[in-house]
Amino acid sequence: MKVQNRSPHKSITHKLILFTGMLLVTGVSTSGTPGAIGMKAGYQTPNAEVPAGQTPVIAYRLMPLIAANPRQLQVTMHFSVPAGETHAALQMPAWSPGDYHLQYHARYVRNFHARDSANTQHELDVTQPDPNTWDINTGSAHDVTVTYTLQETPPGFFSENVQLRSSQIFLNGTAVYMYLVGHKEMPVTLQIDLPNRWLSETPLPMQKAVGGAAYTAPDYDTLADSPVVIAAQGAVTTREFTLGKTAFRAVYFGQQDKIRDVDAYTPVLKKIAQAEIGIFGTMPTERYDFLFDVDGRGGGLEHLNCCRIALPSGAVPERYAPFIAHEFFHLWNVKRIRPQVLGPFDYIEPPRTRNLWFAEGVTEYYAHIATRRAGLTSASAFLTHWRRAIAAMQQNLARFKVTADQSSLKVWESGDSQGFGGLSYYDKGELIGLCLDLKIRAVTDNRRSLDDVMRLLWQRTAPPKPGYGEDDIRAAVNKIAGADLSAFYDSLARSSDELPYSECLAYAGLDDNLRLLPTISAGQQTLYTLWSTASAAAPKR
Ligand SMILES: [Zn+2]
Repeated sequence: MKVQNRSPHKSITHKLILFTGMLLVTGVSTSGTPGAIGMKAGYQTPNAEVPAGQTPVIAYRLMPLIAANPRQLQVTMHFSVPAGETHAALQMPAWSPGDYHLQYHARYVRNFHARDSANTQHELDVTQPDPNTWDINTGSAHDVTVTYTLQETPPGFFSENVQLRSSQIFLNGTAVYMYLVGHKEMPVTLQIDLPNRWLSETPLPMQKAVGGAAYTAPDYDTLADSPVVIAAQGAVTTREFTLGKTAFRAVYFGQQDKIRDVDAYTPVLKKIAQAEIGIFGTMPTERYDFLFDVDGRGGGLEHLNCCRIALPSGAVPERYAPFIAHEFFHLWNVKRIRPQVLGPFDYIEPPRTRNLWFAEGVTEYYAHIATRRAGLTSASAFLTHWRRAIAAMQQNLARFKVTADQSSLKVWESGDSQGFGGLSYYDKGELIGLCLDLKIRAVTDNRRSLDDVMRLLWQRTAPPKPGYGEDDIRAAVNKIAGADLSAFYDSLARSSDELPYSECLAYAGLDDNLRLLPTISAGQQTLYTLWSTASAAAPKR
């Protein structure tokens, strides 16, 4: 995720549809239905996939009540009571992936009811053992229907949660859907009751056999990480393009009619996507959606197969490119290359990791690398960015007190989803990325770069594999460098030492002010060219 202007120039049917056999029509892992491109499974392991046609499904249904005052969203959830159990616990997430502060979405739940699906007159006893949890005494009921309502809820730092407007709705999954405790890995279906002449947009694959706005997801994590835009026809503008086998969709909502030239964004989105796909070689998904909330609140928030970005209507696409590139790079870094605690998720206990500087700061580093490679940033603007980023860090005395890994680990204590003790893991992580990349290029005589570290980590951790351990980034750096850079890495990420700007910039033939040194070697020239040139090919492996 990311906040706008952080740095200088960034500026559910009441009919039971949960029974076995449901997956015959859903095709959970690859639906392949037109307009609903198949999506690879989320974070679950292959063994978690159960044979089609025999799987119970948890079915969600959303009913927007736009004419109500205040406007409401009714959520219905159907599930089978697990064999041998007489209680079922449901929880609402306390936090949303990507937004590292506690939001306690349960506090906005109203009118919670649980009923025996076979006899909806039969209301089941419910207790709340803690504010996030509803414990249902299911007794002899085999299938349960839960209903609750939500009104508009406050946004998080980086995204709207439940936004209910007269002509459009935005829903962030963690703020909407409860999960069946102990069964988050079960496949789910989603049906949306659209108001007349409204439509829905979400990266989830459609269930063609059901018709209407009916979707499927392989598990709760994927459902919760797939935001939904529901809008009156004419209140959204969409553009599409294809790169390789991936269908991209740009969905403009909010004040979308205020954008002067929506089509000016498409080439920029393509160039960003091509530059970043170029780093990894392939896309991890067959569909990706950019959800642009025009003149919306918050910043950007990455999701499994999409991102939601608050886009100022007057933004110049090229100048906004690093912001978009940051969110798109999360498709790999943090959504797939991730600390072990960041997928599958514990939605109640805050996930603590020392590596948010890598997840966020190195993503920010690549936002600038990718936009430069894409030719969306000039050489001088590229160098100016680094000069300013270094100058800003050198004015921050918190750098002497807090390390990048502490800034990451303690973010939950600060409550700002930026860092801890005045040190942003975005800011320091971006500069650690710079130093690491230049160092690896130098010690390998330009044969390797941080790109190779990213590829290695993707290869080692992409779902369904577990995420990386706390020391695995360092191990990957050493492997790619072909040398023991542990002390260097620890100095960058785990100490409050000054970052070695002079040493690292000199590898690229640059002084501390990002000006070329009077005399540079052929090696420095090559490094500078490979690092900073538009369309520079990544070093051959
Ligand atoms: Zn981010």
